[in-house]
Amino acid sequence: MADETKEKSLNFLEEIIEASIANGETRVQTRFPPEPNGYLHIGHAKSICINFGLAKKYGGKCNLRFDDTNPVKEDVEYVDSIKRDIQWLGFQWELERYASDYFDQLYDWAVELIRKGLAYVDDQTQEQIRETRGTISVPGTPSPWRDRSVEENLDLFARMKAGEFPDGAKVLRAKIDMAHPNMLFRDPIMYRILHAEHHRTGNKWCIYPMYDYAHGQCDSIERITHSICTLEFDVHRPLYDWFIEALGIYPSHQYEFARLNLTYTMMSKRKLLKLVQEGAVMGWDDPRMPTICALRRKGYTPASVRNFAEMVGVAKRDNVIDLGKLEYCVREDLNKVAERRMAVLNPLKVVITNYEEGRRELFTAVNNPENEAAGTRQVPFSRELYIERDDFMENPPKKFYRLQPGGEVRLRYSYLIKCEEVVKDAEGNITELRCTYDPMSGNGSSSDGRRVKGVIHWVSAPDAVEAEIRLFNPLFTKENPDDVEEGQTWEDNLNPDSMIKVKGYLEPSLRETPIGQAVQFERVGYFCPDTDSTPEHLVFNRTVTLKDSWAKINK
Ligand code: ATP
Ligand code: MG
Repeated sequence: MADETKEKSLNFLEEIIEASIANGETRVQTRFPPEPNGYLHIGHAKSICINFGLAKKYGGKCNLRFDDTNPVKEDVEYVDSIKRDIQWLGFQWELERYASDYFDQLYDWAVELIRKGLAYVDDQTQEQIRETRGTISVPGTPSPWRDRSVEENLDLFARMKAGEFPDGAKVLRAKIDMAHPNMLFRDPIMYRILHAEHHRTGNKWCIYPMYDYAHGQCDSIERITHSICTLEFDVHRPLYDWFIEALGIYPSHQYEFARLNLTYTMMSKRKLLKLVQEGAVMGWDDPRMPTICALRRKGYTPASVRNFAEMVGVAKRDNVIDLGKLEYCVREDLNKVAERRMAVLNPLKVVITNYEEGRRELFTAVNNPENEAAGTRQVPFSRELYIERDDFMENPPKKFYRLQPGGEVRLRYSYLIKCEEVVKDAEGNITELRCTYDPMSGNGSSSDGRRVKGVIHWVSAPDAVEAEIRLFNPLFTKENPDDVEEGQTWEDNLNPDSMIKVKGYLEPSLRETPIGQAVQFERVGYFCPDTDSTPEHLVFNRTVTLKDSWAKINK
């Protein structure tokens, strides 16, 4: 395994780290910096795999740092879910930190910048500040408050902190260059007034630092060597460096990679929150959501998500990944680890006329052909069975090897049966098949050595357990959910058939399957018991279908 990874060519982040090690860097310290304003999604999973993965590969550490600088949108519910999701993915952080742990230090550094003449209190509204920022071709207009004395700035900033001013009355700005070609350098806002209770610091603060002022300094405090983030932050990097240099503190460096985009998938936290709040989905963990908790509820394994992150790799340019690749990864992993079971989702009753009424037999079924250690189980057989409606055709085409009038088929792990009669109701719908079985065919053989091509799955009708089966399709009908027609919104692209509920008949052992653990319903797909499942009302989610369209096209 280790050798395999070594042979693979390095991605650009690994190249950067190896170059810094060659330059004398002795540590690798990364961090994952979520804002606790929503649940983590598959895009965050990629960032987690990169940050924790690189630290692990180079014998370093990765911190978990909550970027909790906006009290209005943040909540402990999100903090807890984020921690649970990272651990579920199989990673453990070195330190758990919050940007709010550093509010005192950040404040002191702001005072220091005021003293150096590099920051000032501005009485303009945020709106006025936006309007006077200029454009790429037109320089901004300096604020009338830009040249306040250091003493006055120190006094006003202290009073901002003390709560003397209402929200929006004043801000603290860095004094850089109102004509700078990088718009972010036109005296960026460092602090704003927000009289809001914070989920950790309570009412201690009524001024809160902005992302650009907080992030680099937090990295520096934690002596982060490689601060890895997504591409949209590349224009922020010079400002990240500017604050660190102006303060003369530990020089963390920022590196950017392309964020993950997936077809048919919405990755904006704001929009996902809207779906939850409006009840368009059952919650953040609705199996149709792209969140990590939804993938878990749907039956994904941590390994499948990690493998996906590895497979898509790290790119420097934005791109869109086929959702099929994620499904391919979960299918590959479940094929190895999921136990096999039999379940019928679209039942057709079969009566074995020459099998005694009331008789029961148990057949031994293999739990996982990919893993002998998974052992076997017993499956009950009786005179009345269910088979899949699609496994019978009254007038089949050539090469249809499943059941047909007068034809014979193997029941998986069990007997050969022959269809003798098709029973229909008054409208001509098939209601039942009357079959006979070959009593000598119970162990894969037959009475006269004849061979039968088709093998189908089945369940014993009196033993079958009924369950609600939820079949999931993509949540959006468009590859790019934001691709909208005139006068419509992204919500018009929601797929009305994203969840289809059917009744299934399961072999009795499926009653014991723990919630969240995926099993393969043979010939049908991978499924797992949903969190809504109870012993009285079983509910199974389809994790992924068996058919593997992506691998066929791309291999
Ligand atoms: P917000 O709009 O709330 O800032 P966000 O998706 O950027 O949303 P953060 O909590 O700030 O959420 O993200 C934490 C980390 O995850 C950041 O470093 C961010 O760059 C990274 N990240 C977010 N979305 C993706 C994505 N789609 N692919 C890869 N990394 C991502
Ligand atoms: Mg963000």
